[in-house]
Amino acid sequence: MFRNARLMLYFVIGCLMLAFCVTPAAANGQSNLAVWLWGSTVRTQGAEAVVKGLAENHVTDVFLLVRGTAGKADYASAIAPPAEADKDALGDMMAVCRPLGIRVHAWFVFNQDKAYIDLHPEDSMWHHGKANTEFKPYRMEDGKVCPMSEAHLGYMNDMIREVLENYDVDGIHLDYIRYGHMVYCFCPDHVQKATNLGISVDRVREVIFETSYASNANPNRFFEAYESGDADVVAWVKMRQSEIRGAAASMRAVAREAKPNVIFSASLMPEGALVDTNSFAMCHYGQSYEDAGELYDLVCPMAYHLDFGKSPAWVGDVARGTIELVGSDVPVYIGVQAYGNKADRDAVQEAIAAGLEAGAEGVALFRFGTMNEERWSAVSDALK
Ligand SMILES: [Zn+2]
Repeated sequence: MFRNARLMLYFVIGCLMLAFCVTPAAANGQSNLAVWLWGSTVRTQGAEAVVKGLAENHVTDVFLLVRGTAGKADYASAIAPPAEADKDALGDMMAVCRPLGIRVHAWFVFNQDKAYIDLHPEDSMWHHGKANTEFKPYRMEDGKVCPMSEAHLGYMNDMIREVLENYDVDGIHLDYIRYGHMVYCFCPDHVQKATNLGISVDRVREVIFETSYASNANPNRFFEAYESGDADVVAWVKMRQSEIRGAAASMRAVAREAKPNVIFSASLMPEGALVDTNSFAMCHYGQSYEDAGELYDLVCPMAYHLDFGKSPAWVGDVARGTIELVGSDVPVYIGVQAYGNKADRDAVQEAIAAGLEAGAEGVALFRFGTMNEERWSAVSDALK
């Protein structure tokens, strides 16, 4: 009946448009509804099945993972190795989402790329050191990347440029645009850089030791040193913050140059949005919400309350804190936990309601592959 797959595709899209009278939800006065979507989900289910789920549930935005921690590309890349030979999840999703007006954002992980690090071990993140290394720094071998690596940032920028030149995506979405923990990064370049800035790296390492490793360790020691203005600790934290901000600004400039009206966004760890956990976020992640307000056109705080052992009210607190810190001109899509055993109907519905009540302009669900009938129904009720 159909001459080729493309004709079949257009037929499927046409049927979907008729079936759901699809227009972007925002145009209907509904809230923006985004999903994070793994490339592997598109490769296993197929773009037609995925977009059917998106259309049925009035999704407006898709964050499609095109470069995850493994460093494999889920688009046709001449730079990075493919996630699966001859598959183009981004191209497939563009073809089915564009006719329905669903925005597609290419989602990039920043601080971890196994494929890149296997080729460039010199750009690895270094750990502070544990008992089994006699507390001497050691190189991570899981693909974690040192955020000050210019070479890696150049590689990442090349991928962003490649995506924007070859695909008419609506946005670039950054993830893991932060440090993972205070124990990073003590690579030789970092030790040299901090020393040049007048920071006593030995002193910083001593405070980390007293926080996490000493027999009488005080888990709040590092945060207390930061809050009380310990000069070396404060300068170290600010150095890391400046690296994260600088990397994001560099990627933003590349994205803007390739596509001036691109929506440049990021997912953020939630602690930085709240007064009582802001020091924790600055010391561990180097990720500042004030900086985010300058850098991004859209932010998604990942308020996964069940993982954090929090109530839905906390999701509202994170949304409120985010709006206050990033400023009213940056839309907030509240990131909602829709995975795991505890994410039942009530949990999902209450989290979304709390986020919207607090003023979030949209909702971002983690993630499409973990959605089921019960969770979609919770989303639908919360958005009514
Ligand atoms: Zn480093």
